[in-house]
Amino acid sequence: MFDSLSDRLTGALKDLRGKGKLSDADIDRTAREIRLALLEADVSLPVVRGFIAKIKQRAKGAEVSAALNPAQQVVKIVNEELIAILGGETRRVQFAKKPPTVIMLAGLQGAGKTTLAGKLGNWLKQQGHTPLLVACDLQRPGAVSQLQIVGERAGVPVFAPHPGTSIGGEGTLGVSSGDPVAVAKAGIDEAASQHYDVVVIDTAGRLGIDEELMRQASDIREATDPDEVLFVVDAMIGQDAVSTAEAFQSGVGFTGVVLTKLDGDARGGAALSVREVTGQPIMFASSGEKLEDFDVFHPDRMASRILG
Ligand code: GDP
Repeated sequence: MFDSLSDRLTGALKDLRGKGKLSDADIDRTAREIRLALLEADVSLPVVRGFIAKIKQRAKGAEVSAALNPAQQVVKIVNEELIAILGGETRRVQFAKKPPTVIMLAGLQGAGKTTLAGKLGNWLKQQGHTPLLVACDLQRPGAVSQLQIVGERAGVPVFAPHPGTSIGGEGTLGVSSGDPVAVAKAGIDEAASQHYDVVVIDTAGRLGIDEELMRQASDIREATDPDEVLFVVDAMIGQDAVSTAEAFQSGVGFTGVVLTKLDGDARGGAALSVREVTGQPIMFASSGEKLEDFDVFHPDRMASRILG
């Protein structure tokens, strides 16, 4: 991930080295190369335009600094603007004042939600929390048992409807096991009564965006009033990540983004566009199938990685 973008950016900036003073033409040429590098990395066009305009404006107006030569100053500006489009500050999970904190996952099928539920559960445990995973993907055959396997691996309990029974055992709640809203609510009740302090709700996804999917996710959100709604998106889908994010933002709404499959050969466009386009921060990054392949997303570290 980012390898080719990194090479292109460092190449563009390297050309400035050794120059005592930068002319506007130098800056324009560098900006053009950065623009091409970002477009090739599949960064969305409006994001590229805004980024380049800022770089040019700041580089041309840069104060002469005793500490940095002109080339270093441009590198510093690019670094700062990369951090800005990646979200600036690291965004932490907002935990509820009164537990349980409810975290809902939403996204397309195959984005990595179920895998993420396990990783998040594992991470929450490491942070001293007592999470409960709730299986509300009742659409995809095998999704519930997949979550149970993931939960077992992470050592985190899973609340799931038993096939053919009502939630809560012997029909105690009188709801059908096919109703994800009822399962979500029952999961939160279970957490409250059993003193789990965080509930992670796995929801159904479709291969493409459709109204039914949006309505279901939106119903779950409305019924459970989550503290965080995390939009989970596969970084490998490039430009589609942006259109999918926009659709989920208007259909369901979310408070943060989780980028998955950063271990693949994604070019980086999703990471660099999604925050700017949706206004919501990237909160976590997943980079593999193992529980540990997961971390809080730090814009400054990601920018350093991109600049090599
Ligand atoms: P869901 O349909 O959104 O619940 O997606 P899943 O959690 O079932 O993930 C879909 C596939 O992607 C599975 O084969 C996962 O093992 C895989 N996967 C999930 N996250 C990652 C990741 O960060 N990197 C890689 N390489 N594979 C992942």
